[in-house]
Amino acid sequence: MDRDTRGLPRELDELLDAATQARNDYLGYPVAKDFDYRELADFLAIPLNNLGDPFQDSTWRVDSRALEREVVRFFAQLTRAEDDDWWGYVTNGGSEGNLYGLYLARELYPSGIVYFSEETHYSVSKNLHLLNMRHIMIRAQESGEIDYDDLYETLKIHRDVPPIIFANIGTTMTEGKDDIARIREMLRKLAIHNAYIHSDAALCGPVAPFLEPRPPFDFADGADSISMSGHKFIGSPIPCGVVLAKKQHVERIARSIAYIGCLDTTITGSRNGLTPLILWRAIRKLGEEGLRRRAQQSVALAEYAESELRRHGIPAWRNPNALTVVFPAVPETLRRKWQLATAKGQSHIITMPGIARDTLDECIADIVRCRGNA
Ligand SMILES: *Cc1c(COP(=O)(O)O)cnc(C)c1O
Repeated sequence: MDRDTRGLPRELDELLDAATQARNDYLGYPVAKDFDYRELADFLAIPLNNLGDPFQDSTWRVDSRALEREVVRFFAQLTRAEDDDWWGYVTNGGSEGNLYGLYLARELYPSGIVYFSEETHYSVSKNLHLLNMRHIMIRAQESGEIDYDDLYETLKIHRDVPPIIFANIGTTMTEGKDDIARIREMLRKLAIHNAYIHSDAALCGPVAPFLEPRPPFDFADGADSISMSGHKFIGSPIPCGVVLAKKQHVERIARSIAYIGCLDTTITGSRNGLTPLILWRAIRKLGEEGLRRRAQQSVALAEYAESELRRHGIPAWRNPNALTVVFPAVPETLRRKWQLATAKGQSHIITMPGIARDTLDECIADIVRCRGNA
């Protein structure tokens, strides 16, 4: 990649070198690296700020909300939202989208209980604490998917309280996916009519629509809100994401703010005006077909990594169609070298777009060499 560091202070030049090297090496975090948005450089001289609701008029006009709306619409269609019953915005990442979904759920069911599996992302406990919501942790299966029997039995005991299900569409360590259609069916069986399901699709949201079979994770499968990260599978130099919800849920929380001449429907006041441009550029370049190809290539690379490890006697495994390849924890030196996330005796590689086959091969060779030394 060509660089232009003319006139940069030494500290920044050194940081650029170090960050470039670290970017080239990582294999264990779910972040794409095949992007270059320097074509948007001129926007760095404008105080873009998407203050307020992206779908309402505002007095402030130095924004990218028109393109933000297109981004949100694209993902609403991808996640099969019903026509005219969806709303959303570009967030600072999957965590904000999850906080938003839980916030909507709490406004709808203030006395509700949140159910989530033990494999849920660490940010969710903090969100539940911030929102002061009652919650119950459910067991997870080995795959990372929620234990449906435990969920069923627990829901049954608390049938008088509206459940708020926080479903994982790709858990952090093993990419286990909870089946939202199955959870809806369970609620029907228990005759629980007041319920809310949030889909944490931070990792798999932009991938799942293109998998066969399509994992049950979206609005048509029974979700009330969905959170996705933009800097993971799609890739962005700035963390970002998209949150979507059924419009009726959002209307309950909208407040009109005179100062900005707009509705205050989002979590933060000032909002990033650059990240919607990045996502807009990505979906304009890729389209649904590009995303599909991207998903297929990443799955194929995961398949390759899993089979290479197994061929060398490493008991690697993967959930169906997952990009996450799980294997017994590797020594600290390798965790550092390849930035491999490790927990509960397991490490993983995530084959995100932009990971070079050569780098993967080198890492696999290292793992094979260090086998049994964790
Ligand atoms: C990454 C991730 C999050 C957090 O998303 P950020 O974009 O990092 O804020 C939440 N849940 C899951 C399952 C994730 O993979």
